[in-house]
This record gives sequence, C-alpha cells and structure tokens, in this order.
Amino acid sequence: LMTLKYYNHSVIPTKTLPNSHHILSSFQKLPLDGHLSLETTNNNYKNGHASKDFGNIYHYPPLAVLHPKTVSDISMTIKQVFEMDSPKLKVAARGHGHSLQGQAQAHQGLVVNMESLQEMGMVVHSGYVDVSGGELWINVLHETLKHGLAPKSWTDYLHLSVGGTLSNAGISGQAFRHGPQINNILQLQVVTGKGDVVTCSENQNADLFYGVLGGLGQFGIITKARISLEPAPMKVKWIRMLYSEFSIFARDQEHLISLEDTFDYIEGFVIINRTGILNNWRSSFNPKDPILATQFDSDIGKTFYCLEVAKYFNPDQKEAMNESVEQVLSELRYIPSTLFQSEVSYVDFLDRVHVSEMKLREKGLWEVPHPWLNLLIPRTRIHEFAHQVFHKILVDTSNGPILIYPVNQSRWNNKTSLVTPEEDVFYLVALLSSAVPYSRGKDSLEYIMRQHRRIIEFCERTKMGVNQYLPHYTSREEWEEHFGISRWEVMVRRKSQYDPMALLAPGHRIFQNPM
Ligand code: FAD
Repeated sequence: LMTLKYYNHSVIPTKTLPNSHHILSSFQKLPLDGHLSLETTNNNYKNGHASKDFGNIYHYPPLAVLHPKTVSDISMTIKQVFEMDSPKLKVAARGHGHSLQGQAQAHQGLVVNMESLQEMGMVVHSGYVDVSGGELWINVLHETLKHGLAPKSWTDYLHLSVGGTLSNAGISGQAFRHGPQINNILQLQVVTGKGDVVTCSENQNADLFYGVLGGLGQFGIITKARISLEPAPMKVKWIRMLYSEFSIFARDQEHLISLEDTFDYIEGFVIINRTGILNNWRSSFNPKDPILATQFDSDIGKTFYCLEVAKYFNPDQKEAMNESVEQVLSELRYIPSTLFQSEVSYVDFLDRVHVSEMKLREKGLWEVPHPWLNLLIPRTRIHEFAHQVFHKILVDTSNGPILIYPVNQSRWNNKTSLVTPEEDVFYLVALLSSAVPYSRGKDSLEYIMRQHRRIIEFCERTKMGVNQYLPHYTSREEWEEHFGISRWEVMVRRKSQYDPMALLAPGHRIFQNPM
C-alpha cells in the first residue's frame, strides 16, 4: 500500500500515441550522424533514464530518444516533427536531467540527449570559450583552466549542462557582482521549434538571444554557447561565521554586496535545530578550527544563520588578500567565536557539492525524491518572510539545506526571459529538501510539499511580490501570473515566432497547443 501511495502521483502510465509506429518509422529513415533509440529497446541509454530526473517525483516515458552527433541531427529531426503536424508529439532537450519536476521529459515524445552532441569540442579564446549546449560546467571549468581562465558566474553544483542552466539562470554566490550565468553569455547557436539553426547575440537576432536566456527551453534548443571568461585564481579563502539574529545577518550580507572591494562569493544558509552546522551536505567545508557541536548544546531548537563568503587569490597575493579580508571582516557583527576559515584550491571550492554527492550516493541518499522550492524575494519583505518561514513554518524540521543570500538587481540584465522582483536588491531563498521514500513522517514527500505550499500561500496572501526560480506550475493561468502581463505577451509572441507548433520543452506545461 505504501509503495502505491508513494508512487501514485509520480509515475505517469505509458499511453502510446495512436500512430506511434508510423512516427517512429519516419524518424528511422532520417540520415542521422547519431542515432535514435526506442525507449523500449534502450539502445545505449540506461533503462528509463529519459523519464527520470533529480527531482525523482515525475516520470514521463518518451517514445524515443535522439542521440545527436551533430547540430544537423537536431535540426533535421525537429523539422520532421514540425512538418508532421502532430500536435501531441513534443520534443524535450535533456541536458544532465537535474530538473526537479519533469521539465526535461516528453511524455510519449522525443527526448534529445544533449550530452551526446560533441561535434565541436571546446574552443578556448582569450576572453571566451565556445562549448556545446550539452557540455557540463565541470568540463568547461577543467578545459578553461588549462588556459588560466574560467567563467565568472557559476552554480553551486557543476555537474549540470550549459543548456540546462542557461534555460533557467544559473545563480550562485558570484551573481551579486556578475549577474547569473545568463548574463555572461556572448553568443548562442539555437535550433528553433521550426528546425532552423540560428546564431544569436546582443547584436544579431537579439530577440531570440534574450528570449532563450532564462527562457525555459521554450524558443529553441541551445546547441552552442559562447561563455565570457576571466583570469582564474589558484586558491580560495573560504570563510563561515554564525549569527543568531536574522536582522544582523541580513544587514551584513547586504553591506557586503554593496561594497566594491568585497568578497568574490557571498552566500548564506539557515541552520534550524543545529542541523547543518556539521552536516551541511552541500559542502566539503573543512575548517582549521572545526566547530564543536557541544558548544551549541544549550541552543538546541534555536535558529542560526551562517554567512558564507570566499575570496579568490594567487599564492603571491596572500598577504594583501589577508589584509583586505581582515578589513572587511572587521565591519561585520557575527558571533565572534564562530569565525571559521579554510583555504582550498579554486577547483575544490567550485566543485564542493560533488564531494557531498559522492558521500550521499554511497549511502543511497542521492536518488531520493527532491521537493525543492526556490524563491526570489524583494529585500523589503525578507524580514517578514524569514520570521514566518524560519520561526513559524519550518520550526522543528530541516530536510535539507536552506540557502539565503541577496543579489544586486543592477548587475543583472533584465532583457532576458528570467522573471525577478522589481527591487534593487532581492534575495534567493532555496529550500533544498530531500524526502525519505515510503516515510509517513515529517521527512515524507507529502509533508515537505505541504510545508512548501504553506510558504507559497503565505507569500501570496501577504502580496510579497515573490517570484519562483526554477518555477513549476500546472496551469497556463499560473504561468501568466508568474510572468506578469507585459512579459507574458512577449512570451506568447516569441512562442508564435520561434516554436509555433509548441513542440519544445513540454515538461514546463506552459504552452500545450499550437499557437
Ligand atoms: P535538464 O534537467 O536536463 O534540463 C532543464 C531544462 O532545460 C528542461 O526544460 C530542458 O528541456 C531544458 N534544456 C536542457 N538542455 C537544453 C538546451 N541545450 N537547450 C534548451 N533547453 C535545454 N541552479 C542554480 O541556478 N544555481 C545552483 O546553485 C544550482 N544548484 C543545483 C544543485 C543541484 C544538486 C541540482 C540538482 C540542481 C541545481 N540547480 C542550480 C538547478 C539547475 O540549474 C537546473 O535544474 C538545471 O536545469 C539543471 O541542468 P541540467 O543540464 O540537468 O538540465
């Protein structure tokens, strides 16, 4: 019974399209450089892979998976689907499948396995690198480092594809200064929903360029991206400190992102019930003076806030770096005994979550359901939000890390499809929960999703002007509300222009029918 309960709303039964044999045989006739595999035969593809994602909540089986070797494979296949005029047949690009609610899946449609697109390799130039849309950011890091360079803006976890994060935004502790990853892209090559291959940038086909960045895969498949680079540091000074008052923590975070001479990375997280001080799975932080858990025994039940910052440096700049760090730290009001410092290589710092992934994988705790909730919250409402959510809704549980940090809107380019609050500073709050399969308690999928619904309802009731990041909605009305009237009009116009049959990225359920 419990098995049924848990899987009840997660597996979508296979309903084959009536003319699926005809559809498949027409694809099999295409002169592809790569190949097509049927989900039933699973050629070269792990069983059920294309109907799985990191969220592990929704599973939509496709009809077939395209493993393109060339951009022309993708263009030819989409042209074929477009010309078939079969409104139910959809196409989903799949990067590394780290979506949370089936966004890279296509029920009884075609999934394009972007990781197999290795036509061009990576080409590093002095200020940028050209990569395939299916390339993983960890590989981009290693390749650019060979030239002493690296991208400027990251995600916390690098085993994600370039096309996958650019369809959302790509936000991490560098975004207060450089904007998200979508603001650090110089050019894209895109295959539209008509199968056209288009190069676009700020100066060439700008409407498509900005539409695709943060565009949730709605207007085209990113086949190439030109990513802006900067000189890479060798080392990172990585610092954490604790606060017991949210107002002081937030004041310090906002102060830090307002300075010119400040840290290179600024994030923070919430510690509810002491979980997270030592067990924060997202990081391999290993300070010289590790915190003694017993030190906080009398504070069980109390909520703490951890400010996490990092300063990049090369070994010959260590003294100057230390002086500048000391100066900035002296302006902060953290609990003095809780300053923890560590020095790691730049690669180890950026790839920090992977270390924890390996540990969780060993324990079978990586492939559990992940009901995540990511919100962008205006600065003027963050105190109200924190009070309600961290002190009233999430009082006695913590099912995973809760990140919270502000960014400067002025450093973000608002021409992209990403929706953000309309204030100069807003916060990213990420509730990165893991559910325990088959549990019926406070760590169950149902319980966590109920808590998240309470948070969303609170934001709506109090008209906070919050936007979901990595949004998930089930109706068109909710999507219209997410984008707001004028942005929604732009979405509709772009969809009619670049994907009029509404073939692409069906997992978001934004446009279900031809325009
Ligand atoms: P997929 O799940 O494969 O695809 C995601 C969406 O993009 C789908 O709609 C898909 O159709 C579309 N898509 C994929 N490839 C292309 C393409 N080439 N062209 C057009 N559309 C495409 N996000 C952050 O911003 N910051 C973080 O710090 C962060 N940390 C994360 C940590 C973990 C452990 C996980 C699981 C996710 C994290 N994310 C973070 C979210 C992540 O950026 C998104 O889930 C992203 O979409 C995952 O990339 P992917 O390659 O796995 O995409």
